[in-house]
Amino acid sequence: MSPALQAIRGMNDILPADAELWEQFEETVRDWLAAYGYRPIRMPLVEPTALFVRAIGEVTDIVEKEMYSFEDALNGEQLTLRPEGTASCVRAVAQHNLLYDGPKKLWYMGPMFRHERPQKGRYRQFHQVGVEALGIPGPDVDAEQIAMCARLWDDLGLTGIRLEINSLGQSDERARHRADLIAYFERHQALLDADAQRRLHTNPLRILDSKNPAMQSLVAEAPQLISYLGEESLKHFEGVQQLLKDVAIPYSINPRLVRGLDYYNLTVFEWMTDQLGAQGTVCAGGRYDGLVAQLGGRPAPACGFAMGIERLLALWQDQGHRHEVPVVDAYLVHQGEAAGRFAFRIAEALRSGGFSVHLHCGGGSFKSQMKRADASGAAVALIVGADETAANEVSIKPLREGFEQPATQLRVAFDELADTLGDLIFPMEDDNGSL
Ligand code: ATP
Ligand code: MG
Repeated sequence: MSPALQAIRGMNDILPADAELWEQFEETVRDWLAAYGYRPIRMPLVEPTALFVRAIGEVTDIVEKEMYSFEDALNGEQLTLRPEGTASCVRAVAQHNLLYDGPKKLWYMGPMFRHERPQKGRYRQFHQVGVEALGIPGPDVDAEQIAMCARLWDDLGLTGIRLEINSLGQSDERARHRADLIAYFERHQALLDADAQRRLHTNPLRILDSKNPAMQSLVAEAPQLISYLGEESLKHFEGVQQLLKDVAIPYSINPRLVRGLDYYNLTVFEWMTDQLGAQGTVCAGGRYDGLVAQLGGRPAPACGFAMGIERLLALWQDQGHRHEVPVVDAYLVHQGEAAGRFAFRIAEALRSGGFSVHLHCGGGSFKSQMKRADASGAAVALIVGADETAANEVSIKPLREGFEQPATQLRVAFDELADTLGDLIFPMEDDNGSL
């Protein structure tokens, strides 16, 4: 036998029990987004490498060391598995001139790829829900996006996720801050780690984003961008805060929140929890007014966020929630060739009637088939042997407690099966009820 093949480290299978949880989460997410008027968009998983370099910025963790990039063996194009969705979404909006008739509120969900060190809450293929509002200057939409997140935590029953916000101002304000920041770090050059040394003159703001504990006090004392903001930027920031106060969403201002990507300006925010260890940020976003033009579109303001599905679901489970395990209405067991053909017809007829049916396939004794039926969680077992087949009838055995009928076996004509089954499984619904 050849050695078993394994999935790539950090790229996980989502097995059925978890995949069902994911589907329920996705359903909640779809309803939530529809309630805010956001529409879906789907972009390719692979894009030209240049898109991410231009959008995210050359001196960022993602572009410097996390991208899965490769050359197309057929035509030599430089390609990258998307590490995030905003760049692709903005590229699509610009390419198709989607803003020609006004602003757009868009969302997507799917896998992202980053070559990081796999650990709890940090994977190489992970999944995000991304939400982008394009063509709206804010601060209304910024605050609405933050309020949206708060509502989703509520919808999911999640608690203990706190909100931090900050403003990155505009580029001229950042330029003045940047000059002072470089001067400050130069005065303390001996305390900088290798990453910070390298970024000192290319991207000093990123040093503030450092996760190195040894640099935390240096970073804490650094000049704060917020004190460089002009009147307009402050007004925008205060506008966001006012709306958050109006709907009673608690937040704290973190002047060191700068985000690890280059495209942000004005509002930035992160939602985090202390319950997931080091990987505590479950959602992050902000305004990126320059990006649409930077990627070749007509200039348009924009604001968005992305949440990490693995981290949210881990938190959801850690907080004691369990998803509903879907089960079929009926498990159909049968024996003999004629009975097998009859069972096949019964199963199809019931599905046409709106029931979910697990038709036992692959043969086996009645006893072993009934074991499967029990384990399936189905409400009833339907039994078809030679007797039933000859009489054009089906036996019904309730498998769960709580039915109105006594838990004994019934036998009904094929024509009456759907009605009997309906009364048995959904006793509260009348004949007009949806099956
Ligand atoms: P971190 O600081 O944890 O590396 P980030 O700033 O790189 O996060 P973003 O690019 O803002 O993350 O992505 C938004 C969200 O996607 C994060 O808040 C997190 O929940 C999730 N996320 C990012 N990278 C990963 C990963 N490698 N594995 C799992 N989830 C991730
Ligand atoms: Mg990261």
